[in-house]
Amino acid sequence: MALRNIVVEGDPILNKHCRPVEKFDRKLAQTIDDMIETMNNANGVGIAAPQVGILRQVCVMEPEPGMVTELINPIIVDARGEQEGYEGCLSVPGYIGKVVRPTYLKIRAQTRTGAQETYEFEGFAAVVASHETDHLQGILYTSKAEDIHIPEETGE
Ligand SMILES: [Zn+2]
Repeated sequence: MALRNIVVEGDPILNKHCRPVEKFDRKLAQTIDDMIETMNNANGVGIAAPQVGILRQVCVMEPEPGMVTELINPIIVDARGEQEGYEGCLSVPGYIGKVVRPTYLKIRAQTRTGAQETYEFEGFAAVVASHETDHLQGILYTSKAEDIHIPEETGE
C-alpha cells in the first residue's frame, strides 16, 4: 500500500472523462488499496481515480467509518429526491460549497474482481456517491455549488 499524491483543482485531469476499467488485475487492486489509504490519510469520505491522476472509472467511498464501497465502471440507474447541503473535496482543499444532490441513488457497478453489483445509497451516502461519480465525468462540485467559501474555524 502507498499514499498517492492528490491532484488539486486547476489540473486539467480533473475535468476529463474517465475511461472504463477493462482489466481486473492486481494493478487495479493495488490502485484501489492505495486510493483507500490516501482517502483515509486525508480524512476524506470519498476519492475518485482522477484525483490520484488516473483517468479510469474507479471511485471509493466511506460515508461512515468502516463502510467502504468500491465502485468500478459505475452507472447511475436511478436517482430520486433532492437534498441541499455543504460539501468539500480533497481536490479543493479548505473550501466547502452548497450543492443539491439526490436523496437516493441506485448504482450498477463492478467490484475489483469484475463482478456486477447493484448498490443503493441514501442520505449522506447518496451525496458522496453522487460527488464521486461526478468526478468520473470530469465534474467538480465547484461547478455546481453556491456559496463556496472557507469555513470559519470553531472557537475563534
Ligand atoms: Zn471530490
